[in-house]
Amino acid sequence: MFNGTDKRYNQYSAHLKNKFGVKVYKITLDAGFSCPNRDGTISTGGCIFCDEGGSFSQSHSKLLSVESQIAEGVKTLSSRFKAQKFMSYFQAYSNTYKPVKELEKIYNSALSNRDIVGLSIGTRPDCVDEEKLNLIAGYKDDYYTWLEYGLQSIHDRTLKWINRGHDFDCFLRAYENTKEKGINVCVHVILGLQETHEEMMQTAQKLAELEVDGVKIHMLCALEGTRLAAMYNRGEIDFMSEDDYVRTVCDFLEYLPPHMTIHRLAGNGLKSELIAPKWLGAKFDCLNKIDRELLRRNSYQGIKS
Ligand code: SF4
Repeated sequence: MFNGTDKRYNQYSAHLKNKFGVKVYKITLDAGFSCPNRDGTISTGGCIFCDEGGSFSQSHSKLLSVESQIAEGVKTLSSRFKAQKFMSYFQAYSNTYKPVKELEKIYNSALSNRDIVGLSIGTRPDCVDEEKLNLIAGYKDDYYTWLEYGLQSIHDRTLKWINRGHDFDCFLRAYENTKEKGINVCVHVILGLQETHEEMMQTAQKLAELEVDGVKIHMLCALEGTRLAAMYNRGEIDFMSEDDYVRTVCDFLEYLPPHMTIHRLAGNGLKSELIAPKWLGAKFDCLNKIDRELLRRNSYQGIKS
């Protein structure tokens, strides 16, 4: 059992509650970033699953300033959930993909409210450098600071298939440089990338070996308007069944050391844009099934680590 809950994995939200004494709510932000894999710098079209919002994004309107998004997020979450503490989360696109001076202004504006206790920045491993990492490391004494790297798989063949535009070595370099600065790292992976079970477990084992601080697990899904949706409509690919996914997630968790925080266990794509697999639209059913499967096995995160 983890964080005084009945969860058999180290759920990030419970970890935050333990750390700060109250539930901490994420405010997702959209500061109008782009991505070199979409703007033609690396390639055109981006990752095959990436939608208009910059991949699985749930953030506020980019028409609002970051300060306004924070103010609105605090107001809404406080009145709806009586929230007291918040993390600023830059989710959409690649949130280090601007000159460092601009980044500093943007990140500072996300910390304008005194109840913000943390900063999470989602990006690609090829969009950081020494200067940017120094800037981000500068926040860690005052805020719980995370960099979230999209990796998806450790297998270069898969990264090529999804048109990721970087390889695993690129991730490794960014990861080592980030850890050197003392910044927490969460790694995003996707299951169901037409890989064998063994290949997916190799990704889990590698993340365990690297001792990353957190993991976010998504199920591959086709959202409207993506290249993946077109491939699915042409009958070129299929998706894992929910039962398969549940078993695979549990197998994956068994390899991850207990201290590693689990930020997500299923995708969060907009239901209205979800083409397939349809079962992902009932995300909480899937999460409940993962709990039940771990209980059935009498297993837990890290049992094989
Ligand atoms: S790195 Fe992220 S924003 Fe860029 S194309 Fe891939 S999923 Fe989309």
